[in-house]
Amino acid sequence: MDKPEKAYLKSFGTEQVVKYPLDQIRYRSDDGRLLEVVNPMRKLSEDNVADLKQLFDMRQFSRNPVDRSGVWRFREFLSAFAPYDNIITMREGNTPIYTMPVCAAYSGMKELFVKHQGFNPTGSFKDNGMTTAVTMAKKLGARMVACASTGNTSASMAAYAARSRMKSIVFIPEGQIAYGKLSQALDYGSLTIQISGDFDKAMQVVQDVCKRGRIYLLNSINPFRIEGQKTIMIEMLHQLDWKVPDWVVVPGGNLGNSSSFGKAFAELKACGFITKVPRIAIIQAEGANPLYSGFASKERVLKPVSAQTRATAIKIGNPVSFDKALYAVDSTEGLVEQVSETEIAIAKSRIGADGIGSEPASATTVAGVKKLVEKGFMHSREKIICILTGHLLKDPDYTVDFHKDELYADAKRTSSVSGGSKIDTGDYSNKPVQLPADVDKLLDYIDEHAHSSI
Ligand SMILES: *Cc1c(COP(=O)(O)O)cnc(C)c1O
Repeated sequence: MDKPEKAYLKSFGTEQVVKYPLDQIRYRSDDGRLLEVVNPMRKLSEDNVADLKQLFDMRQFSRNPVDRSGVWRFREFLSAFAPYDNIITMREGNTPIYTMPVCAAYSGMKELFVKHQGFNPTGSFKDNGMTTAVTMAKKLGARMVACASTGNTSASMAAYAARSRMKSIVFIPEGQIAYGKLSQALDYGSLTIQISGDFDKAMQVVQDVCKRGRIYLLNSINPFRIEGQKTIMIEMLHQLDWKVPDWVVVPGGNLGNSSSFGKAFAELKACGFITKVPRIAIIQAEGANPLYSGFASKERVLKPVSAQTRATAIKIGNPVSFDKALYAVDSTEGLVEQVSETEIAIAKSRIGADGIGSEPASATTVAGVKKLVEKGFMHSREKIICILTGHLLKDPDYTVDFHKDELYADAKRTSSVSGGSKIDTGDYSNKPVQLPADVDKLLDYIDEHAHSSI
């Protein structure tokens, strides 16, 4: 792969290959399908694979920011961006894998691992794809970029656009975005437009706006985001010394991330880095479950829903990358599962109890493992890596409401959507207490209530 052949764009999911050049700005093929980047991959010799693995090792210690990036370190898999000059990087990726004993016990596993994408520059996995897509935007001469977002895409785009001196415009569903994410978009200087309607409406509007030209679209319909997100799986396997786990578990919203994982495994296999692929399990919230329903149905077509969940990052009823996600599941003998608002909330508290924490959408993974173990699809001794997609501090309101025992499945706390009532936190909430500033009384209280688990 030292001299990569030229990559190109093609429409996804058709037999006939219509090629489009990389420098033509378009988001769909002429027949309306999603586009994907084709990286000419050939099977490498064992020596070549060993050399590349060593090169990836060495780059971790390089002083070049492009080598240090957990995305661009693996640039041999990103041939669309060759010759890799003018890269906009914030040292994204490089995210840790943790063992999670509390979550393992909770979900019925002997061991359970998470790879925490919340430890990215803007606190979510969106940075992995934004570094590549913004680099391409710059290459294509864009001066303005835009996205519709449930929050994290806008935070990430705003940051990378600011770093590259481009103007960014975000379309967010009014009143439905977590505060941590909104604060980022504002601080990084995005023109932030709250539109009436939900995410799916915002997505439709931004596509229409960008169709008129001038403004470059950075939602995950943009195939260059998917390219960057592939490296989440490449980095994971690098960290595991290329030993393939049994399962990778990922939340499903607009389904770009799961799509990119499927593409990563296909490419790694094609060039001889791995011989078998992990199974991908995509977990959705019950109130935003079109992939779950589509996967289970005979026709396997997308039937949009009106999305309802407190996990706002996956509150998406009409996911753009539906077809690509189906491929990711099918090509890895994977599964799709759904979990309830209560299951998400409790699983999130268990991730916190391991000293890690995440935003609500990420917790679908641990909730999903518990469910799939109970159903017998996953086994207690398998190696499972859950992808935690966003940082705990993205949505502090949710966490505080949970621990105060004031979390409602319906954000407005009124209607009765999918159990719109209060979420039963069981024994898992950790209420703050108010006490007088009296040392004796405080110590009495501590003696009675605080017990070390060691
Ligand atoms: C974007 C996002 C998701 C959903 O990912 P998709 O690629 O849209 O399926 C899940 N969790 C978090 C924290 C996100 O920001």
